[in-house]
Amino acid sequence: MVPDIFHRDFTPTPYWWEAYTPAAGELVDMPRSARVAVVGGGYAGLSTALELAKQGIDAVVLEANELGFGASTRNGGAVSGGVNIGKSFTGRTADVEPERAERLLSDASDAFGLINRLIAEEEIDCFWEKRGRFVGAWTKKHFETQTRRLALLNSAAQSGAYIVPRQRQREEIASDYYFGGLVVERSGKLHPALYYKGLSRLAGDAASSSAPRRRSRVSAGPAPNGASRPAAGRSRRVMS
Ligand SMILES: Cc1cc2nc3c(=O)[nH]c(=O)nc-3n(C[C@H](O)[C@H](O)[C@H](O)COP(=O)(O)OP(=O)(O)OC[C@H]3O[C@@H](n4cnc5c(N)ncnc54)[C@H](O)[C@@H]3O)c2cc1C
Repeated sequence: MVPDIFHRDFTPTPYWWEAYTPAAGELVDMPRSARVAVVGGGYAGLSTALELAKQGIDAVVLEANELGFGASTRNGGAVSGGVNIGKSFTGRTADVEPERAERLLSDASDAFGLINRLIAEEEIDCFWEKRGRFVGAWTKKHFETQTRRLALLNSAAQSGAYIVPRQRQREEIASDYYFGGLVVERSGKLHPALYYKGLSRLAGDAASSSAPRRRSRVSAGPAPNGASRPAAGRSRRVMS
């Protein structure tokens, strides 16, 4: 008999889904036409739909799975104004031209402001806390890279970042493991699935309070071969 390596409380679904479970909702007819079709109903798709609705632009969001099925309800919930820009998937520093890095950081800084404003103004209940972040340096070289990036991070993203040398890192973390590190004050964390839930409520409200010609709609539901279903429908849970 194969021993069960999992604890009896183990579940294969993300922990966050206990607070918000992605759901297809009620499917109704798709609009026959829309000015903009947004493919994918994650943070990116819903934020786009929300912005379009505010600008009075008719849009439809096409989602192949349940609403919130993707990375937007499965992530770590760490929010910063771009501290990871320039980091590759392997964790190594990627080669980004300085002008491009500056533009990306500036956009990331705006995104932080937008999330912060949306949560406060729209009262999205998602455990949003802005307590800053300590990024420990794995190696001496990593620490040197952090030191080099500091000025750009502060000038382009207003990160309020500062270096913590190794001999002072216990002021931030109860460990001597790292080679010092970087504190990013303009940084926070949230419950990713509850933030998604709030965003979908907002997108729905924006759609239903707009004139019919301005409506955004969301189509959701399992689609064959993972493709979006053009003839599916929209979810009343998100857009009315
Ligand atoms: C494990 C993990 C941890 C992470 N931690 C963090 C973090 O701490 N901080 C941070 O800022 N970011 C983090 N991220 C990244 C963050 O989650 C993503 O950048 C963000 O959720 C992307 O949003 P999205 O809307 O682009 O994609 P998604 O949320 O993935 O949404 C895309 C949607 O498109 C749908 N779709 C795909 N193809 C089609 C199609 N053909 N037709 C219709 N629908 C389609 C999918 O079903 C999906 O629902 C993490 C990601 C992962 C995976």
